[in-house]
Amino acid sequence: MTESAALEAASNFSELDLAPEILAAVTALGYATPTPIQRQAIPLVLAGRDLMAQAQTGTGKTAAFALPLLHRIKPYANTSTSPARHPVRALVLAPTRELAIQVHDSVVDYSRQLPLRSTVVYGGMGMDTQEAALRAGVEILVATPGRLLDHAGNRTVQLNQVQFLVLDEADRMLDMGFLPDLKRILALLPRQRQTLLFSATFSEDIIRLAQSFLHNPMRVEVARRNTAAETVEQVVHRVREDDKLDALLNVVDCRGIAQALIFTRTKISADKLGRRLQRRGVEAAVIHGDKAQLDRLTALEGFKQGKNRLLVATDIAARGLDIVELPCVFNFELPYSPEDYVHRIGRTGRAGASGLAVSLVSPEEEKLLTGVERFIQKTLAVTPVPRPAPEPPPAPVQVLAEASQSESRQDRQVGPVARRRGAEPVCALLRPPPPAPAAHDQIEPE
Ligand code: AMP
Repeated sequence: MTESAALEAASNFSELDLAPEILAAVTALGYATPTPIQRQAIPLVLAGRDLMAQAQTGTGKTAAFALPLLHRIKPYANTSTSPARHPVRALVLAPTRELAIQVHDSVVDYSRQLPLRSTVVYGGMGMDTQEAALRAGVEILVATPGRLLDHAGNRTVQLNQVQFLVLDEADRMLDMGFLPDLKRILALLPRQRQTLLFSATFSEDIIRLAQSFLHNPMRVEVARRNTAAETVEQVVHRVREDDKLDALLNVVDCRGIAQALIFTRTKISADKLGRRLQRRGVEAAVIHGDKAQLDRLTALEGFKQGKNRLLVATDIAARGLDIVELPCVFNFELPYSPEDYVHRIGRTGRAGASGLAVSLVSPEEEKLLTGVERFIQKTLAVTPVPRPAPEPPPAPVQVLAEASQSESRQDRQVGPVARRRGAEPVCALLRPPPPAPAAHDQIEPE
């Protein structure tokens, strides 16, 4: 059921009946008009409806739930120092730590002008700071499920006054891994509450499951199902597994890509690619679930601030991360799940910006490519890997006989590497090549 026609009418934020403090925060962030998901979801949330909202990644989902929730919680805002006056009223659950942090950052931005308290709790960090914030009392709590249960078990947080529950990336929240935790959390919440599900993708199973704990939910769907933003140019390069690294560097160089997020399927291959890039003299940060939380945050922050040009990541980074103006995403390996393809490429082309998604597909991955194309109902353009223009021939120089001899000795020493390097692009990313032993950088030692 959708009420789109009537509700899409609001063409600017002031028509959405949000509190002036919230409108001021939105204006300060430079948001001129609400996005389609915001136009549809905000009036429904303000009206107290449960929601299942499907929106493309990067379409402004966070503000779509956070702004109306802040509006509804605003009457409870107070400056009392008593924790009892600041019970948790809105709980937002997110599947990954990074997404939880990002959502919380947005909540902080949106509530800057309101005396409402919020915090974020997630695993991989000490409990102490989180406990202190919870004990002081917060109206809005963003959490990953496991850590929230830890705090609930320690009685550092009470959830019996939660009026609003948001499941961000609801499909992931409801999938096998999170379902038991989610059920335990639901058991701690009042039955009388408003529940909002936001996700880029919804399978039939998940829709059925979600309906079991939503009350007469409204469906909001602003994009065709299981599609990526239209602003993302999607290309496929067919390359042998061994040639992927060269292909990656060629594309980055030839297309003059300022920053790219590179996805691999596994933590092992993410680390491996990070090392291979390093050996080619290319700085790249690596982020995956086995990295210490601090390293993950540092890598992500460094990338967001443009310190690293390349970030290699597993699908942990595919969900929800918003990196402003990220121009390009690579699928160094296609994901096993076509849904992850949509999430991955949703990291670029966000909020209307154009983006590029490049998939390097080896013969072994043809089936995965077919799966992706079926899922997104689109045949992807296959193009040859761009090749850099050949270097101009060196200007003739007069060389002394001895120098030329020693050069040819060096040539013999380096042999095939030197020859291959000669054929390689002069890539802006590459530092001077490392000395001889780094010879076979296409062959990865295990
Ligand atoms: P989200 O889908 O919530 O991750 O948001 C994606 C990006 O869009 C974030 O950088 C938001 O700050 C930005 N954004 C959200 N709503 C708007 C809006 N109405 N106008 C412009 N940018 C927005």
